[in-house]
Amino acid sequence: MTRHINNHSNDDAKHSDLSPQEQQGEVVLHQSLRPNSFESYIGQDELIANLKVFVRAAKKRKQALDHVLLAGPPGLGKTTLAHVLAEEAKATLHTTSGPAIDHKGVLASLLTSLNEGDVLFIDEIHRLSAVVEENLYPAMEDFRFDLFVGDGPYAKAVTMNLPRFTLIGATTRVGMLTGPLYNRFGFHAQIHYYNDHDMIAIVKRSAQILKLEIEDEGVQEIARRSRGTPRISNRLLNRVRDFADVDNEGLVSKTIAAKALDRLGIDHVGLDLLDRRYLTILAEQFQGGPVGVETMVAALSEDRGTIEDVVEPFLLQQGFIARTARGRVALDKTLLHLGLK
Ligand code: ADP
Repeated sequence: MTRHINNHSNDDAKHSDLSPQEQQGEVVLHQSLRPNSFESYIGQDELIANLKVFVRAAKKRKQALDHVLLAGPPGLGKTTLAHVLAEEAKATLHTTSGPAIDHKGVLASLLTSLNEGDVLFIDEIHRLSAVVEENLYPAMEDFRFDLFVGDGPYAKAVTMNLPRFTLIGATTRVGMLTGPLYNRFGFHAQIHYYNDHDMIAIVKRSAQILKLEIEDEGVQEIARRSRGTPRISNRLLNRVRDFADVDNEGLVSKTIAAKALDRLGIDHVGLDLLDRRYLTILAEQFQGGPVGVETMVAALSEDRGTIEDVVEPFLLQQGFIARTARGRVALDKTLLHLGLK
């Protein structure tokens, strides 16, 4: 069972410039495609193997799972994995996010509504305020929460005992977590970009659920251009479907997929307009760097979070850029890709 706590906007549509209706459509799309078991969760093999042992051991000891921290760029399956873990542990999942817990009272009401063995998922946990975070420590460690009742000189501290619960935190910025919070998680998981093999399996699975007629080469084309990110492949699959419906009686062939993706501004290695603008500015305007992130953000007039969480991690992983002590530098691959070499 899943309960959404507070009016935390579901993150499935985040990092997109969609209208509210389109965003709602995206949320429904991603929820319908979300794996709900270890079996249906594709890729991240080593991590999944470890998590299977972790869940089995907790079940054997009849204990709640230890607290888990999931780190990795957006859209790689952190929320999905929280759902899977709760499902596999047969626990009720409560979901919220760091910014939604905007004061201690919200945290108190969240924690006191939990039952023994429940899972509390906090997305963007690096965005908790310092006060809320400090109050989370005793809850995580000793399953207690300290409240002050009354005002001024009559205020008195009351300690509430909490049921043993599991906190699953997700973050795109593990480096922004404070040491004390990081250390209170018993299991640290890094989620990586998916390789081509796994992306193909993800696109195939999603196409099957959406009952789409798609050729293998169409699958490969979408998988290859999805930045190793399931959220992107699901979104692209949906867009490509529109083109196939209009131009090809619903059949997604390689040609239709390639045409649709070209029209959406996604190039043959999966870079989108923002990625290419980043590389062009770095390579041409700044002669390949080094350039500090502040300067890049200003030159692109983009949100810093998008640059640091979405754009750069993929460009770094793919070897387009490198990070040095003096800033970002463009590597040969960038010059070749932009036709500057
Ligand atoms: P995050 O929380 O890391 O931003 P999500 O868990 O919301 O990412 O994943 C986005 C979408 O991608 C999900 O709705 C799901 O359909 C799909 N997805 C994520 N991980 C996987 C996976 N391992 N296998 C298949 N689909 C996945």
